[in-house]
Amino acid sequence: MDKIELKNLTLLQMRDWVKAQGWPAFRAQQIFAWLYRTGISEFSQMTDISKEVRAKLAAIATISRITPAMEERSQDGSVKYGFRLADGAVIESVLIPEGDRLTLCVSSQVGCAMGCNFCLTGTMGFVRNLSPAEIVGQVQAITEIVQALGKNRINNLVFMGMGEPLANFDNLIDALNILMEQTGLDFSSRRITISTCGIIPKLKELGEAVTVNLAISLHAADDETRTQLMPINKTYPVDELLAACRAFPLPSRRKVMIEYIMIKDLNDSVRHARLLIKKLHGLSCKVNLLPYNENKTFPYQSPAREQVELFQKTLRDSGITALIRESRGGDISAACGQLAAEADEEE
Ligand code: SF4
Repeated sequence: MDKIELKNLTLLQMRDWVKAQGWPAFRAQQIFAWLYRTGISEFSQMTDISKEVRAKLAAIATISRITPAMEERSQDGSVKYGFRLADGAVIESVLIPEGDRLTLCVSSQVGCAMGCNFCLTGTMGFVRNLSPAEIVGQVQAITEIVQALGKNRINNLVFMGMGEPLANFDNLIDALNILMEQTGLDFSSRRITISTCGIIPKLKELGEAVTVNLAISLHAADDETRTQLMPINKTYPVDELLAACRAFPLPSRRKVMIEYIMIKDLNDSVRHARLLIKKLHGLSCKVNLLPYNENKTFPYQSPAREQVELFQKTLRDSGITALIRESRGGDISAACGQLAAEADEEE
């Protein structure tokens, strides 16, 4: 019989499992709390659980632990961590300092099936979904590194690493429930952002399942350009996607983040900005403008700085909050859309 991996279980699932073992209900909370305590990887370390129960646990269950096999530092302070998983697959997380705050960018899949035509992860194709334990494991491992450095905890989690989180929906929801559990890693839902290319039915389900911040990879306001950049737009076009965003239940006083990669002569003109303003009408949002990082894989060019500023001004003049976000970690391939392809090339 296969052993059960306990870090795949939410607290509710743990309660059911504990009940099925014939153990008292309090045991679920007790085991769950141990799993997310720093440095615990063996049942023998769970000192307030009887030896007999610990022996049974070791016979029927496992506690997985992933640790970074690779670490690369960017000049801007971002650190990219590469994890080699049990089956040899490589995933990456990026720790991004912003002032005294730390944001961790988390992966949800190995590779990605969405094939966005500016994204290096997309060129890998889809390999497999990450388990809840592998998603949470990234956060736990980097939390321990941050603690060992004497820093404060990770402030924000963004699901913007490898993969499309909503394409790994069930595991994502379980991972979120584990991350948000007070006796687990205790992340408030206000500090978690799910970034998606816009799988509309799953977006609706996400809003029903949890209350988290939402980021949409929009990148173009017209269907023709967006379909060129993101094949998913053929199935879920711009107007329908933005209607789903308007209906999404955000944490109070939060806005949908609209991510917009700016590419020279493709989507960076004032005409594009005006169309974006029109499409965003009535949506409580802010726009992150991300000047494209040039690379050898795709033919696109970075926009001129003046063009980015003019685009931003056009949005701002219409009352939309628009920030120019310099992509972090560009020198270590940790910037948006650059994760993982190189890790594979190094094999
Ligand atoms: Fe997948 Fe996101 Fe890359 Fe698109 S941008 S291919 S959804 S990882």
